[in-house]
Formats: sequence, C-alpha cells, structure tokens
Amino acid sequence: MIADESRASRQTADQRPDLQISFEFFPPKTDAMEEKFWESIGKLAPLKPRFVSVTYGAGGSTRERTLRMVRRITTDAGVPAAAHLTCVGATRDEINEVIRGFQDVGVKRIVALRGDPPEGVGQPFVPHPEGYQNAADLVAGIKKLGDFDISVAAYPEKHPQSPNWEADIDNLKRKIDNGADRAITQMFFRNSDYLRFVERARKAGITVPIVPGIQPIHSFKQISGFAARCGASIPVWLIERFEGLNDDPETHALVAAAVAAEQVTELLDEGVTEFHFYTLNRSNLVLALARLLGRRPD
Ligand code: FAD
Repeated sequence: MIADESRASRQTADQRPDLQISFEFFPPKTDAMEEKFWESIGKLAPLKPRFVSVTYGAGGSTRERTLRMVRRITTDAGVPAAAHLTCVGATRDEINEVIRGFQDVGVKRIVALRGDPPEGVGQPFVPHPEGYQNAADLVAGIKKLGDFDISVAAYPEKHPQSPNWEADIDNLKRKIDNGADRAITQMFFRNSDYLRFVERARKAGITVPIVPGIQPIHSFKQISGFAARCGASIPVWLIERFEGLNDDPETHALVAAAVAAEQVTELLDEGVTEFHFYTLNRSNLVLALARLLGRRPD
C-alpha cells in the first residue's frame, strides 16, 4: 500500500461509521483504585465505545464487584457494559444465577470464558463436576437464558493448551456456532500473527468479527509478566525498544505511545475497523490511541 492510500484509510470517525472501539477494565479492589476506575471511565465514556467490559476474577472472586461495576457503568456512566464470566469453580446453577443477576441490572452483553484453574494459568483445567465444561458450553448455556450479545476469546498465537492450530480454530468455531457474536483476541505484539490468525479462522468458515485486543505498554516489566502468563510472546525488537528505560518513565511513556500507535495504525491500514483496548483502568494512552483512530470525545 502506498503512503497516500494508507493515510486515506485513516479518516475521521465521521467518515468511518464502521469504526468500533471497546474498553476493558478490571474491578477495583480498594477505594483509591475505585476512584481511579471511575475517573478513567468518565474520560473514556465520551468516546462512545460499543461497550466497556469488566473482567471476572479467577474463580469468581470478583463476582459481586464485577456486578456492581457493570451496573453502575450502565446506569451512571450511560455506556453499555459487558460483564466477563468464567466457568471456574461453580455449578451451572450458580453461574446461571450470576447471568440472571446481570439480566436484572440491565446488562445485555457477556464476555464468555472458560477461565483458568485457581492454581495458575499453566495448570490443566478441571471443570466443576456440575459446571460448564468450557467456554463453548457456557455460550450455549447463556443463549438458553436470554438474548445476550456474547463475545468470546481468541488467540493469535494459539491458546497455550491447544495441541495444534486445527484444535484451536475448531474450538473457536464451536464457540461461534453455539451463538457467540464476536471474538476478542488475547494481546499480541506482532500484527502478522493476528492477520494470519484471521485468515485461518476465515478459511474454517468463521465469519464473525475477530476484534484485536490491544494492550498499551504502560509498564514493560508488568506487561511482559502478563504476556508470559497468558502465552503471548514479546518480540526481540520490542524488548530492545524498552531496554534500559526502567528508570526513565518519560522516555518509556513516549516509546509506549509510539509502539501502540504503530500497532493500531498498521491494523487500520490492513482494513481493521474494530478495536478492543486493555486499559488496566487507565485512560491516557487509550485516549490518545482513540484519537489516532479518528474518535474524539463529543
Ligand atoms: P476455551 O475456549 O473453553 O478453551 C481454551 C482451550 O482449552 C482450547 O484452546 C483448548 O485447548 C482447550 N479446550 C476447550 N474445550 C476443549 C475440549 N472440549 N476438548 C479439548 N480441549 C478443549 N480470564 C478470567 O479469569 N477472567 C476474565 O475476565 C478474562 N477475560 C478475558 C478476556 C479476553 C478477551 C481473553 C482473550 C481472555 C480472558 N481471560 C479471562 C483468560 C481466559 O480465561 C484464559 O485464556 C483461559 O485459559 C481460556 O479461556 P477460553 O474462554 O479461551 O477457553
């Protein structure tokens, strides 16, 4: 693609009605964190995201907090909220009760996940004997309870527990066939991994949107740790860009902005029109990235 064509694809939001963004938050643990959470929601809400999602802690540990946050996002912030939900450590009846709780507070969007065992991501997942077996099973269960908009997880570098690509894509297809509306990807730092993954999925007959999950690197040390735990690799060039910046927060922040800007504009040039941002409850970098995509607050 030549430069002018590339720039032309980066039009303003008014000219890009197809452009969609969503933001992911985690439920705050303390009062101070909660204040920051609402401050960030307040800054990002005017960007008119498709939804703001709130994660579900390992083993359902944040069940009450996730519910409280999604309720307030919907009622007070006036933004559609999506609640994450996992199958870990609960019976079907218990999970169905949580889904009805979402329904009762007007939450119509669920990010349906298997989750990981409480012992850690690398350990084999053993479903509760009376529980949902995996994300595909959970999607089918949610569909029985109501007409929810459902997102599921996808892995541009393959889920670490998938024995091969065929099994990985088959698993995604099961989730979609059971009623999921879109897939949101795990963080990735090589756009070629994402583009190849989308190609594999399309070849397998998966037609729903596969929304790239973008992780801005607020702290290279922290994000490297997250990436290692979830099976996302960090390319050598990325390590080199952040090398020696642990004690230089200003340059670190500038490099982080440049890296994320490069990632989203490249994807935009590839025709990607939907983006999901892992905010870690912060707004600054994501606000800047949304502007690059032509999305400004009202
Ligand atoms: P699934 O799609 O059920 O399966 C993952 C893998 O398990 C498959 O690739 C396959 O290898 C294996 N598998 C599944 N079913 C079968 C089967 N029938 N036979 C053989 N193998 C099978 N975690 C949280 O705890 N809380 C969150 O809020 C959360 N949010 C997330 C949001 C996004 C966008 C993403 C990408 C991940 C999120 N996670 C969250 C992490 C997620 O729970 C883990 O990645 C987990 O390891 C897999 O969940 P899944 O829904 O992809 O599982």
